[in-house]
Amino acid sequence: MQFVFSPCIIILNKLPPFTTMKITASHTVTTATPAFLNNGGAMGKLTREYDWAATPLGDPESWPQSLKTIVSVILNSRFPMFLWWGDDMIQFYNDAYRPSLGNSGKHPLALGQKGEDCWPEIWPIIKPLIDQVRGGGGATWSEDQLIPIYRNGQLEDVYWTFGYSPVMNEEGNINGVLVVCNETTEKVKNLLALAESEDKLRFAIEATELGTWDYNPHTDKLTGNLRLKEWFGLHPHDEVDLPVAVNVIMEKDQPAVIEAIAKALDFSSGGSYDIQYAIVHPVTKTERIVRAKGKAWFNEDKVAYRFNGTLQDITDTVVSFVKTRDAEERARLAIESADLGTYEINLLTDEMKTSERFNTIWGVNDSMLRPEFAAMIHPEDRAMRDAAHEESIASGRLFYEARIIHPDESVHWVRVNGKVLYNASGKAHYLLGVIKDITAQKERERHKDDFISIVSHELKTPLTSLFGFSQLMAENPAMLQQPQLSIMLGRMHGQVKRLNYILQDLVDVTRIEGNKIRFREDRFDVSVLLAELIEEIQHINPTHRILLTCIDNAEVFADKERIGQVITNFLTNAIKYSPKGSVVSISAYKEGDEIICSVKDDGHGIAPDKQTMIFERFYQVPVGNQPNAGLGLGLYISSQIIKRQKGRIWLESEPGRGSTFYFSLPVNS
Ligand code: ADP
Repeated sequence: MQFVFSPCIIILNKLPPFTTMKITASHTVTTATPAFLNNGGAMGKLTREYDWAATPLGDPESWPQSLKTIVSVILNSRFPMFLWWGDDMIQFYNDAYRPSLGNSGKHPLALGQKGEDCWPEIWPIIKPLIDQVRGGGGATWSEDQLIPIYRNGQLEDVYWTFGYSPVMNEEGNINGVLVVCNETTEKVKNLLALAESEDKLRFAIEATELGTWDYNPHTDKLTGNLRLKEWFGLHPHDEVDLPVAVNVIMEKDQPAVIEAIAKALDFSSGGSYDIQYAIVHPVTKTERIVRAKGKAWFNEDKVAYRFNGTLQDITDTVVSFVKTRDAEERARLAIESADLGTYEINLLTDEMKTSERFNTIWGVNDSMLRPEFAAMIHPEDRAMRDAAHEESIASGRLFYEARIIHPDESVHWVRVNGKVLYNASGKAHYLLGVIKDITAQKERERHKDDFISIVSHELKTPLTSLFGFSQLMAENPAMLQQPQLSIMLGRMHGQVKRLNYILQDLVDVTRIEGNKIRFREDRFDVSVLLAELIEEIQHINPTHRILLTCIDNAEVFADKERIGQVITNFLTNAIKYSPKGSVVSISAYKEGDEIICSVKDDGHGIAPDKQTMIFERFYQVPVGNQPNAGLGLGLYISSQIIKRQKGRIWLESEPGRGSTFYFSLPVNS
């Protein structure tokens, strides 16, 4: 928009005293209009109607030709113009100039007014300029000058490009000063805004430590800011060919970058560019991971004429992302390998998020509300659990072990660990933690406890009877002569043997634990050993029939006594855990490089979930509430013996359908 000028500077909102002519109906001149005042729009009309006779200029007809001409030029020009004429500096201006005087202010009084009266506030400043022009000093030229003017009810910052030019009279003297001006406020403001936004951009680029780049597709040259040049190892003033910069990119990333650039430069792609790659400084070899973002600009022929953008060093972000990801991965692995379920509770809303494993441990299919989870805790453990939660708010840590009743009414033990997170105001906000199914562990602990009572019980029985017999004999020496003596001694021997077995088992366990068990290396035939043992065990266990169903001759290289111990354990268990009168079948057959020995009974069998624990120390399958006779050590010792002799041990069993225990040994080749 082009507008106006102001002959100069600051216009105070106080108008200069109105002393000269006023345009009123009574002053209106009605004489015929001189031709040179024709046209000129609103200002033309005002000029025509002005009472010039009352001014030092007199009637327009009498004006010198030079004034008539210049006034006519001014009125007919659409360029903002203003004229001071004569020694009194009588003023003229046109429609284009008029807006510079604003809506309320000097217009229309300024027309025909003396310069000095019109601009009292700036006269001392502009008078010398005018005098300079009038004195023959030549025209002035000022570009984009800030000259705030009072218009539209306020003091506005207005920019102008203007010149003061001399106007000659007929005698060749300078008698007027013509002001031609152009308001450049909008242009200047745009430039200022541009400069400001460039400043802001520069600041943002600095603050975010961005590199900037600019590629000219016509010349294939790339340039950038100092930071970018430093990253790429370029000299500060370098403008380089694109391939030079591409060479700094890590080799493995180069094809992708080249492809992304080509794509961005293709009009159909829309011109955007966003890629992540690594660069290696050509000298220091410093590696940096960067993210380049940019845009290609296209001309009317859809040809890219510029491609520019930013480069961000994301090394730290990527490294910390990788570290976090690794840490998360490690945590996930730890959680997985420890078989933990995880949970997160919003203590303010009671919302609860749980992992799949958590749900499985808790015996539910899906996440539920916190109270629903809590309701599944065994009634006897609830008070303890509530107290633990209450305490955790103060201590920041949660720990308890409780029983959960699954929907199928089975009871499971869980260990719950948690950490309380507090919000800024110190209020407990989140509870994060893990749970572990400790049912098996609890069962083992129970077995261990049971073990003490079992051992005491097992030791007590033979000791009590030995004590009884020996006391009887001590108190009745005559008994030593009696025929029952040999029966009593036989029984005592039996009890001593039993004590010996128990102690032997305990000693074996201690040896196994301390890795002190030693094995002899005998060469013997398993079938022969089996036959010997069957005879012996059958002899003392007439309640069952021991049947040898299949036997292959197979020589092994192992500790004969220890292998005998395993077979005895299998056989005595089969007898112990199957009904009287039933058959215990035993077989030994070769399979590949092994001899496999099995002992099958028709007992009550073992549930699948217990089968994995059966070879553990002290483990006994509970039958009712009563602990089994024995220490729960026989199969543990057997498994250790077989494993250390390079064999295998296992069982097949179905509840109610008996069990078959197996062991294998490598056949001596
Ligand atoms: P013990 O017999 O002294 O308890 P073991 O280690 O030999 O110790 O056996 C461990 C447990 O395995 C036994 O308590 C019993 O519950 C179970 N078991 C062993 N053999 C059999 C079997 N043939 N049938 C059923 N249960 C058995």
